[in-house]
Amino acid sequence: MADCVFCKVVAGEIPAAIVKRTDRLLAFRDINPQAPAHMLVIPTQHVASLEQVGDGALLGEMVLFARELARAAGIAERGYRVVINTNPDGGQTVYHLHLHVLGGRSLTWPPG
Ligand code: 5GP
Ligand code: ZN
Repeated sequence: MADCVFCKVVAGEIPAAIVKRTDRLLAFRDINPQAPAHMLVIPTQHVASLEQVGDGALLGEMVLFARELARAAGIAERGYRVVINTNPDGGQTVYHLHLHVLGGRSLTWPPG
């Protein structure tokens, strides 16, 4: 997708702090972190939002990928949060499916 910021990250056209990469998934640090650890997991193929996902296996891979990242970052034991903001009321601002992995501090609930 030509105008998609995360497709540009996948293509290397926008620099990002890449954490982990496979053929299907990419993880990188959020540019505006909301916690000491804040990473994003995205599919390398463009999907606009959770509402557009047809491939349940892809979502499963993304969640397990997030768990791997949390373990590797050393935040898994104390705890972390995995979030998919979806559409305007969900707080989605970038319309390329992404999963937030947040941790490294005690997170409050409800999120707001
Ligand atoms: P959303 O609000 O759509 O759930 O989350 C989008 C996230 O992408 C935000 O947390 C925002 O900080 C992050 N973000 C937006 N543009 C960029 C970028 O160019 N690079 C990186 N690393 N993160 C970005
Ligand atoms: Zn995209």
